[in-house]
Amino acid sequence: MDLLCISCKESFAGDYLRCPSCAGPLEVKARSRSKINFGGAFGQSIMERYLDFFPLERVNEKISLGEGRTPLLSAEKLADLCGVGKLYLKNETKNPTWSFKDRGTAVGVQYAAAHGYKRIGTVSSGNMAASVAAYGARAGLETFIFVSMDIDDEKVAPIAIYGPQLFKVDGDYSKLYFEALKIGEEHGIFFINSDAPLRVEGSKSIAFEIAEQLGFDVPDYVVVPTSAGGNFRGITKGFLEFYQAGLIKKVPRMVCAQAAGCSPIYNAFAQGKKEVEHIGKPDTIAHAISNPCPPSGNVVLALLEQTGGLAVTVTDDEIIQAQKLLAEEGLFVQPDSAVSLAATLKLGQNGSIGRDQTVAGILTGSGLKYTKALELHKIKFHTSSLPEIGDYFRKNFN
Ligand SMILES: *Cc1c(COP(=O)(O)O)cnc(C)c1O
Ligand SMILES: [Zn+2]
Repeated sequence: MDLLCISCKESFAGDYLRCPSCAGPLEVKARSRSKINFGGAFGQSIMERYLDFFPLERVNEKISLGEGRTPLLSAEKLADLCGVGKLYLKNETKNPTWSFKDRGTAVGVQYAAAHGYKRIGTVSSGNMAASVAAYGARAGLETFIFVSMDIDDEKVAPIAIYGPQLFKVDGDYSKLYFEALKIGEEHGIFFINSDAPLRVEGSKSIAFEIAEQLGFDVPDYVVVPTSAGGNFRGITKGFLEFYQAGLIKKVPRMVCAQAAGCSPIYNAFAQGKKEVEHIGKPDTIAHAISNPCPPSGNVVLALLEQTGGLAVTVTDDEIIQAQKLLAEEGLFVQPDSAVSLAATLKLGQNGSIGRDQTVAGILTGSGLKYTKALELHKIKFHTSSLPEIGDYFRKNFN
């Protein structure tokens, strides 16, 4: 694929994960396009419809799991509560493995299969591992997943069920990342890791869908719970490419939402710095957004500046409250995803986002991914013996 280094601006053709000359983050070069090929039929996937925007020649439906095409829900009560004009929630929990990660995995697997790779892999212990394991199984590729030794069994089984070669590795997790890449090079494993260029490409389809779902009149703000920064980069890149293609009239202001217990990007933004400093040990219930040294952090900072965006943090208490508020709208998301709502509440209530503004929040993953969070909620139910239930009901629900 044709890649551009965001740091040193050099171009490369190849399947690199980081810049071969400066180790900076790479992105797929936008193709020049004279016309947009919408394809023909309804029922096509978002990747097929906007194929011109992806580094793929075609989409092989046989190895797709039906990713994307997630609902964009209008949440009027919550918009009122936040003090913003309109609030839309992009429900990414409806993806095949219940998080947005499937979008990036789908592009990665399409690319790997089309380019003759027989093996794919990832280093992750959460949603990305489950996603890569599922798509590897679907595509019939030998799939290698590396997780750290201290991962608990509750998280291992939902990855192992897809039948990958699953490695629990004892040692420093950040070193494991680079060690795995070395093994990948030696053994022909195509890695689809955190902020890999094709993962970023996959997240563009979130922006494409939001644009379509709002009749190409995009929101003023888009709020993204951010860890490594790959999803944030992808959504922003999607809006920028649609803008350059003349499909939308503006690019939304992007909001990087982080947990107060792990906020390296916010810290740099708040201090007006252009570079993210790594923080110590993360301390938040939002495990999926707790990367203390986000590999795309500096790129996120630059995109915040480019789009006139904002960074914000929310506490674990605010996250759990927002998780409950979303559940009361029928949306059970993981704590990390509730960060979207908690951040919008904060920005609406402190006046950073006005009452006439439209906001879209990304609900990145499902609440069933982390059921331990349920212990933090007051769960209510009724108890009654069978003979007494009639009386009980009459007394309480007349
Ligand atoms: C991976 C993940 C994120 C963070 O995405 P990045 O691309 O690492 O910034 C947020 N929420 C959920 C549920 C995730 O799985
Ligand atoms: Zn470089």
